Order: sequence, then structure tokens, then C-alpha cells
Amino acid sequence: MSQNKGRKPPAGEIRQSQILSSFGPGSMVDLPETSIIMGGLNQWNYGKTEIPRIYEPRLEQYLQQKFGQPNLSLREPPASSQDPTGPRTGIQSFMFPGWFVAQVDEEFLAPSGKRYRTRPLMPWKKLAPHGGKYFDKDKKKRSVVPVRFVQACVHGHISDINWRYFVHRGASCVGELWLDEGGTGNDFADIFVRCEACGKRRPLSDATLPKSKELGICQGKRPWLGPAPHSSEACGMDEDNRRVYNKLLVRSASNAYFAQTSTVISLPSSDAAIKEAVNLVYEDFLQYAEGADDIAHDRKKKRVSEALGEFSNDQIWEEVKQRKSGARPESKKIKQVEIETLLSQPDEIGEDLPDKDFYARNRSLDGLPDSLKASVDRIVLVHRLREVRAQVSFTRFEAPFSDIDGELQLDVAPAALGLETDWFPAIETKGEGILSPLSLKRSPLGSNAMP
Ligand SMILES: [Zn+2]
Repeated sequence: MSQNKGRKPPAGEIRQSQILSSFGPGSMVDLPETSIIMGGLNQWNYGKTEIPRIYEPRLEQYLQQKFGQPNLSLREPPASSQDPTGPRTGIQSFMFPGWFVAQVDEEFLAPSGKRYRTRPLMPWKKLAPHGGKYFDKDKKKRSVVPVRFVQACVHGHISDINWRYFVHRGASCVGELWLDEGGTGNDFADIFVRCEACGKRRPLSDATLPKSKELGICQGKRPWLGPAPHSSEACGMDEDNRRVYNKLLVRSASNAYFAQTSTVISLPSSDAAIKEAVNLVYEDFLQYAEGADDIAHDRKKKRVSEALGEFSNDQIWEEVKQRKSGARPESKKIKQVEIETLLSQPDEIGEDLPDKDFYARNRSLDGLPDSLKASVDRIVLVHRLREVRAQVSFTRFEAPFSDIDGELQLDVAPAALGLETDWFPAIETKGEGILSPLSLKRSPLGSNAMP
């Protein structure tokens, strides 16, 4: 179609795995002339193609329970479309921040006698009528760059600093604002906002003191979710049940965005296989068993031994015991299941086939030096491994607390990735690894299990 011919190329491309780690909804990206905030899940466009689902039942179930959403599913981030005439795919983003600094070369002599590099600070709405350019006092066109400083809160909300309010301490004055920077521009005490009309001048360090209230109460802005009315919500209270105040945030700083993710290793569903095996002979035989010894006894019958196959008497007894008590199996922690599978007795776990997600086998300890033999009682070589990682939220200022059992900590209200969505973005990684009780002590099968 003709309207596609002149279509602008996307502003940038990001690898799918990076979207989940650093460039998810609500993260900020600097582009050559502007800066954007990555759009929420409702801004993820898959075009007409089928939405690529990621199937990982254990992770899906875990998240469904954790978020109380029984229909929750996992999707891959959209891939960029290779077909220039096809429907547009990708992630829509929004211009943020909305304040800019004009690239003029002027100096300000402070009352202290110190000289500052100074540049006009202004909102986009003043620049837009002039094509995003600033006209200096000689009527020369100057380009602009987005201001480095914004304000955000512990719940992930983010917005432009109310610069006028800050410099005037609330008083109303509409003079042109300037940003004075001394030294290298990294010391907040040496960066000032100044009003040209009334002469008021204030260092940014006023906004960085601990418990500072200078940037005002958080208005709950969520510019990554698109235009109003969805783009704000009530911010809520902090953990001490107090109103939440904005904090100064440097856009490009490493604490501006932390993805909160949940990761599992896809395991062969041995549970399902055991249940099926037990189903075959439960009514006629196994329901009368009182212990693993009885299972061994039942196994002497051909029909039972055929049905139970390779499973051990203890494994079968665990399943039978659960059925007899009528109790629901207690839900295990997400990493505990992985450790238990790897430390379970069989020499092989899973099948060594190209289309299978998991295959591990025990390595013989015969060749090990005696000193190691004393402390290692098993080495599991994981030949085939699939890790699925889903992003559920994000934080700013502080990384989400990560639990050694892989459990999500959602104590602080999680920042929303989208509006009323019933899915989370996810990616899969394939690899291999080695697990031995030595490494187990340090890292219970976290990402260290991956190459
Ligand atoms: Zn907030």
C-alpha cells in the first residue's frame, strides 16, 4: 500500500531478551534527538500474526496463583516485522521527559563569583510550534536535548519535575528558566535552576536530601501506559503508611529501572507420569497398601510391575499415600521442585531427544580425587535445559528483593506493566549446565546453572 512506502523506520530495535531485562514497560531509552519511555503491554503490537505464546505450565500456574488471575498466560515480546508492507509490529513508546535544555553556549556569573555554563530549560509545548527548536537571543535556531532529571516514586510512578514550583518554592512566576551547571555537572550542589525574570535560584541538591519533600507528593503518573485517564492512579502509602513523596531520578542512572522477573527451569512432568501409572492399578491393588513394602509386594504381580515401570517403590508410595489421605499435595516452592528433580535418584532425568526441554544424567564419581569424593556425593550433568523468564513488574531506585527459593516478593505494590492485561511477557533460553552439591550450596540452580 502506498501509505506504507514513506513510512518512517522504527526509532530503534532492541533484542527480545533485552526487553525483559532492561527495556520493559516503563523503562527509558535515549534516542539521538529525544528520549522515550517504553510503552506498556497494551502498546505491544503483534500485527495480524498470531501472538506467540510461551508454554510453561509450572510458571503459568505459579503466576496465576500469585496474582489471582486464573487465565494468565505468557507471551513473547513482538518481533520486528521483516515485511515493510506488512502490518506494523513492535512496541509503541512515548516521548518522555517533556522538558528540554537548549544547546546554547552561555555563562552565568553567580553571586559567589563562580562561573556556570547555563542553558534555557523549557517544556516541549513551548518548542513544538518551532519544530522542536529554540531561538536564542540572536534569533538563531538551536537544537535541544531532553533534561536528564525527572522525578519518580518507590511505586514506579514517574513524571517531569515541576520546575517552576521547585525554583520558586511554590510561588507563581512564569519567567524563563535556566539550568546552571558548574564543574562536570555531576554534583547536585553545583547544578542550579534559575528563573530569569525574578532571579530565584535553587540547587538540585535541595531535592536529593533523604526524606526530602521538595518535589511534592507523588501524583501517580504512569506515562508508559499512554495518555490520560489511564496514565495516572492513586499512588498509595509507603511501608510506614505515609504519603509517598517524589524523589529525584537521573534518567540514565542504573537505578532508574529494575525488571522484576520470575524464572523457572522446564522440567519433565514426572508427576503426571507417576499419576498415570498409579491410576492403572490403584483401584485393584495399590489402594490397600500401607507402606512402600506393600508396593514392593504388589509389584510381584505382572500387571502391577508393568504399570509402574521404572518408578521406585518410595515414589509410588508417596503418590498412593497422598491419594489415601485425600490431601492436596502441598504446593512446593518454585526452586525446591527443581532441586528435588535434580537430586532425585534416577541416573537419567528426561529424554535425550532434540525436541525435549530437559535431559540430565548422573556422572560417575569414579575418576574424582579422594579429597573431592569426600564432599561431593553426586554430579548431575544437565545436557539440555530450558529456562523461561517472565517479567511481572518493575521497580525504581532499589532492585526487587530476590528470594533464594525463587518466590516473588510483592510487598510493595507492583508497578503495572499494562492495563487489565491477562498476560505477562516471557522469553525462553536454552542451555546446559552442571550441578553438584558444592555449587548447590552457593547457588541453588539460579541463572548460574546456565552457561
Ligand atoms: Zn507514586
